[in-house]
Amino acid sequence: MAQDRIGGVPVSRIDAVSHAAAAAYAAARPRTRAALADGATGWLDDVPMHWMKDWPQPFPMLVAQAKGAVLTDIDGHHIDDFCLGDTGSMFGHSPSPVAREIRAQAGRGLTYMLPTEDALAVGRLLCDRFGPMRWQVATTATDANRFALRVARAVTGRRKVLVFNGCYHGTVDDAMVRLGPQGTAARPGLVGQVADLTATAVACEFNDLAGVEAALAQGDIAAILTEPVMTNSCMVLPDPGFHAGLRDLATRYGALLIVDETHTISSGLGGYTRVHGLRPDIFVVGKCVAGGMPTAVWGLTEAVAARFAAYDATRPPGHSGMGTTLSANPMQFACLRATLAEVMTPENYARMEAGAARLQAGLTKAIAAAGAPWHVVRVGARVEFICAPGPLRNGSQAEAAHAPMLEAAIHQCLLKRGCLIAPFHNMMLVSPATTKAQIDRLIAAFAATLTELFEI
Ligand code: PMP
Repeated sequence: MAQDRIGGVPVSRIDAVSHAAAAAYAAARPRTRAALADGATGWLDDVPMHWMKDWPQPFPMLVAQAKGAVLTDIDGHHIDDFCLGDTGSMFGHSPSPVAREIRAQAGRGLTYMLPTEDALAVGRLLCDRFGPMRWQVATTATDANRFALRVARAVTGRRKVLVFNGCYHGTVDDAMVRLGPQGTAARPGLVGQVADLTATAVACEFNDLAGVEAALAQGDIAAILTEPVMTNSCMVLPDPGFHAGLRDLATRYGALLIVDETHTISSGLGGYTRVHGLRPDIFVVGKCVAGGMPTAVWGLTEAVAARFAAYDATRPPGHSGMGTTLSANPMQFACLRATLAEVMTPENYARMEAGAARLQAGLTKAIAAAGAPWHVVRVGARVEFICAPGPLRNGSQAEAAHAPMLEAAIHQCLLKRGCLIAPFHNMMLVSPATTKAQIDRLIAAFAATLTELFEI
C-alpha cells in the first residue's frame, strides 16, 4: 500500500509544495534557462559530473561566484550556502590565506613531481594538527582511502575490509557493500561492477561491537574502515564506548583501524580523533583540508609505517598501485600550508561551533513548534535534521529514516527562501565566514517550510 504520509506530512502536500517551489525556482532564473535552452551542453547527461543531477531543482544553478558563505548564481541571486561544496569549502569559499597562496604559487609552476619547502612545513603542520604520523598526499579522499587499504592489506597479509552498513568512503570499490538479509552484499546501482565485493569486504552494523567481533574472529580482516560518526546515511552517533571497543577489537584480532575524518573534521581542531581521543592506525582526511583545492592526506602511525617499510623492502619492483601523477603538487602544498596554519585554527573552529550550536537550537525549536516527528544531530560545525524520530543507532535505522521525496521538497523550499543545503541528505555546515544573520535566515526559512508542509 502506498504511504499517505512521509515524516508526518501528507504525500499530496509534499507534492504540491515541491511543484510550487520548482516553478518558483524556474521563474526566478530566466538567464539560466536561456543559457541551458538549446540543450547542446556537450556534457554527458548535460552536466560535467553526474552528481550535479542529484539536486532537487528542475535544472542546476549556474554559479557566477562564491565567497565566504555566499554563492551567487548567474541570475544574480545571493544564496546563503550551507552546503559548502559538501564539505570541500567547509572553511568558506576561497579563504583569504588560501586565495593568497594560490595567486603566489600560480606564478611558480603547478606540478613538478618534486617537493618544495612548503611541503616540509606541511609535514610538520600535519603532525601538529592531527598527531605524529607519517603522511602522504593524495588528490581525493577516495584515493587516500584506497591507498590506506592497500597498506593495511600489505602489512597484515589479509584480504578483507570491514565497513559499516550505510557507510560511504568515496568511490572505493571495496567499501561498496551493504548488510542485506543474507549478510554482506554488493550495493545496488553500482555501474559496471564485475568483481565479487563480498570476497574482499564485510559489512557490520555501526554500534554493534558483537557483530564486529564475530566478523574479526574469522581472521581474514585487514582493516576496519570507519568514520567516527556515520555522516553519509543521515547522522548516526557512536554509542559511548563504541570507538574504544573498536580499537580494542582491532588490536586483539590483528586488524588495523582506519579512521576516515573527511566529514568529521567538522568536530574541531584535529578532527573527531583529537577531540575525542581516538587512536587510529591510519588517519584519512580530504575535501576541505587544503581549503577547497583538491587534496587529501593520509597518515600511518610510526608502528604501521615501520611494518610498511619492512614489507616495502621485500616488494618486487613494479607499480605500487598507490599515488597519481598530479598528487602532492606545489599548489596543494601551498594550500595545505595556508589552511593548516591560518584557517584551521582554534578561533575559527570556535566560531563554527558556536554558529552550529545556534543553528541546532533554532531548528530543534522549529521542529518542536510544528510538532514534527523529526530530530536534529550535530557534530561540531555539521548539523543535520532528520525527518524521523531519533536518535538513530545504525545504517539500517538511518536507511529507514531517509525520506527522499520529503527531503527534496524541503531543500527546494529552503532554496526558494535563499538557503542552500547539501543535496544528498539534510546536511548544513557552518563555516567561519557564516554570519549569525545567515544562520537566523536559515532557521526562519526552515520554520516557514514546516509551516508550509504542516499547514500550520
Ligand atoms: N570519505 C567520506 C567519509 C566521504 O563522505 C567522502 C565523500 N563524501 C569521501 C571519503 C570521498 O571524498 P571524495 O569524493 O572527495 O573522494
